[in-house]
This record gives sequence, C-alpha cells and structure tokens, in this order.
Amino acid sequence: MSDKYLDLVSAGPLKRVAGTLGLPRPVRLKRYSQGHDLPASPVLVLGESAVADGTAETLLDWGLEVRRHAVPGERLGGIVAVFDQVEKPADLGDVMLAVGGALRALEPSGRVITVFRDADASASPAQAAARRGVDGATRSLAHEMRAGATANGIVLAEGVAPVAPSVLGALRFLLSGRSAYVSGQFLHIGSEAGGLPADPSRPLEGRTAVVTGAARGIGAEIARVLHRDGARIIGVDVVPASESLAAVMNEVQGTAVQLDITAEDAAAKIAKAARGPVDILVNNAGITRDKLLANMKPEQWHQVLDVNVQAQLQLNAGLLEAGAFGPEPRIIGLASTSGIAGNRGQTNYAASKAGVIGLTRASAPELAGAGGTINAVAPGFIETEMTAKMPPVTREVARRLSSLQQGGLPVDVAEAIAFLAAPQAGGINGTVLRVCGQNMVGA
Ligand code: NAD
Repeated sequence: MSDKYLDLVSAGPLKRVAGTLGLPRPVRLKRYSQGHDLPASPVLVLGESAVADGTAETLLDWGLEVRRHAVPGERLGGIVAVFDQVEKPADLGDVMLAVGGALRALEPSGRVITVFRDADASASPAQAAARRGVDGATRSLAHEMRAGATANGIVLAEGVAPVAPSVLGALRFLLSGRSAYVSGQFLHIGSEAGGLPADPSRPLEGRTAVVTGAARGIGAEIARVLHRDGARIIGVDVVPASESLAAVMNEVQGTAVQLDITAEDAAAKIAKAARGPVDILVNNAGITRDKLLANMKPEQWHQVLDVNVQAQLQLNAGLLEAGAFGPEPRIIGLASTSGIAGNRGQTNYAASKAGVIGLTRASAPELAGAGGTINAVAPGFIETEMTAKMPPVTREVARRLSSLQQGGLPVDVAEAIAFLAAPQAGGINGTVLRVCGQNMVGA
C-alpha cells in the first residue's frame, strides 16, 4: 500500500510547496535495520539524580556518546529527561525547559524520552500533580515534534529500580528505530521481572511463537519480525488463505496451521501443532464488518465479536488450561485505537477491540502468576489491505491525522509486539501500547 503524498513531499519538488502552503509535511521515518538499533549521535541526559546518572552510564555502556549538558551547535540523536525526584509541580520546570532548549538540535527521527514514577502511587497530592504533569507535557511535546521525531515516556512503578530489565528494554526500544511509529505513549514498568537476552540481536532465540492471521498484512510481518529475532513460528490462518500462509511460512521456515480460530478445538489443534511448549501467542487475526449501528445486521455484529475478542478469550484460556505454555508465557493481543476512541461505523469493531483491552488488563494477574505477561498493542492507521478498503478521502484524512502525518507500516506493529515478547519486557504486564503515530483522535 503506497502513500503517494508522502513520496512526493518527503523527497520531491512538493516539499517546499507544501511548506509554503502550510500542508502536512510527513517525512520518511528511520526504521530499524539489523545492527543499527540505537541513534548514532549523542544522547543528552537531563536531570540531577542518581537515576539520571545511572541512565547516562547505561547509554555509555551501550556505546553511545552521552552529554549531560547541551553543547552549542551539536546535533542530538535523542534526549532522555529524568524526573524521578519531582515532589511538586514547580519541580518540573528546570528539566522540561532544558528539553525545550535542546529540541532544535534534535536530528530528524530523533527521540525524546521522559522517565518518571507512577502518579497513582504518589505520597502526596503535590507529588501526584508533578508526576502527572510529566505525562501531560510529554503527550503535548509529542504533538510538537517535527521531521519524524517522537516523544514518549517510561513510567516506573514504586520500587522498580531504574536498571530493571524492562526499564533498560524500554529505553532501548524507544530510542531505536523499532519504535518509529510510536509517539505520545508511555511504557509502564510494573515489576523487575524479565531478563537480559544472551544475544541482543536475537532476543527470541529458542522460543516458539504462535501468530494467528499470519497469511498477510500485519500478521505476516509479525511472523517475519519474530523469526528475525530468533523465534520458531507457528502461523495460523483460515483455509481460504492457505496459499499465502504457506508462502509466508516458507519464508520464515515456520509451520502452517489452517484453521478458523473461532472453532471450539482451535486451541487444542494449535497446541498439538506446536509439538512442544508455546512461549509466545500473538492474537492477531481480526476482521471488520463496518456499518452504522442503525444498519448493522446481527451476523455483522456477531462475526466481528467472535473473531476479534471471543476467539482471543478462548485461545488464551484453552492454551493456559492445557498447560501448553512454556515457563514464561507471553500473550499479545491486537487491539485498535478504535477500541480506545471509538470510530464512526465501527460499533462492533470498537466493542471487540475495547474488549481485548479489558481482557488484557483482567488476565494480567493470572499471567504474572504463571511467570508471564499479557499485553495489547493498539495500532492506529496501518497501511494494509484492511485500510486499503477505506474510501480514498477518508483514507487520506486518516493518514494525516497523526503527529507523524502518515500511516504506519505493518513492521511498526510487529516491532512493538517483538519488544513485548522479548525477555526484557517481563516487567510490563496488563498494558496497552498504541502504535499510531499519536493519532489526533482518542486518548
Ligand atoms: P488483514 O485483514 O490484512 O489480515 C487479517 C488476517 O487474519 C487474514 O489473513 C485473515 O485470513 C485472518 N483471519 C481472519 N479471520 C480469521 C479466523 N477466524 N481464523 C483465522 N484467521 C483469520 O488485517 P490486518 O490489517 O493485517 O490486521 C491485523 C490485526 O490488526 C487485526 O486484528 C486488526 O483488527 C488489527 N488492526 C489493524 C489496523 C490497520 O490499520 N490495518 C489497525 C488497528 C488494528
């Protein structure tokens, strides 16, 4: 699916014209390529605390150049602003304004990351106000970023050390091109669970991953990215998609399983096909049957609910009850920004995707008890066959209505899923990560 406006504006003669006319000027995002998962230029670490010092040391250990103060005239790959010690709103200004002072030095596709403690666990209203303030400022800053740059936050639960595996994993993910289409979002680190992979370039080595809806679109890309990161892939899709499923599975040396995930015996068949413990389950298969509620036929409502949410409930429960998971199960469900903000013509779809968010949060304690995690990824507008079906004008508006002024690619969703599936993300549980370029609609 190609975005012709992006092609013209990012490279062609339209670039200057678009600027003069005040039209959107999306740029081509810098995405991850193997071996290049960190920004090359210096990263500025702001904040006066042991956590800020520790963060700077971590980045140095990763081989990055680090600055503790902006150097006039020097370009920056990223800015990490640490707010772990804020006690009252007045404490925010120094570091936040220092971020502002450094923004013009940020490279295209540069990164701003704020690090702070969870406001809900604050010791006083003033502390909660300050912490929540970092959240609001980060979201707003993300709207102000230009040239493919993003702003996101890492929120640490009380007691989680800044060197916990998931804090380091989140920092690396958000600094890298793996998070190219993630902006205005927060990764909540709830515990110190998780571990560092033996080989950072293949964090899923030795794991078995089941991906539903793997024959095309986002699911096919998830299969490719999880395979790239070392996982053995079991790809599931319906019988009519068997040819394309076989092609994708050939590509990733995976196993094709043809079944409808709404079938009662789907979990049992998947467990059998895995021929060993399942470590990662990605509930990706999904459908749309868009209609205004006034015109919705019962089958359109039921089909969408059955495939998008009921089947996720059944597969999760079926595999858990059968003891089919390995010792650190990771479940990742596909939600959607429609399930957060709602969308005209999608009451059925939004009900199903909000349902995924509900089941994800509610299942987190059970998964933690089993040594694992469950999270959801909520894509915004992603360039796939699903969105290619949209009317052209609606599609063009949907593309531009995000801070990055373009649709995401399936690989952007796949990278977020690979991150949540990796050992380092063990401390992230029951959360929803939006991959939406910071859609202007919704929360
Ligand atoms: P797609 O239609 O291109 O692919 C979906 C795949 O799921 C297909 O291969 C299809 O055959 C398979 N599938 C459908 N019903 C199935 C069933 N009952 N059993 C087994 N397989 C089944 O969709 P996509 O755009 O790649 O979307 C993938 C997921 O991401 C979906 O859950 C979708 O709701 C979600 N999502 C997509 C977007 C987007 O912009 N494309 C945005 C938000 C969320």
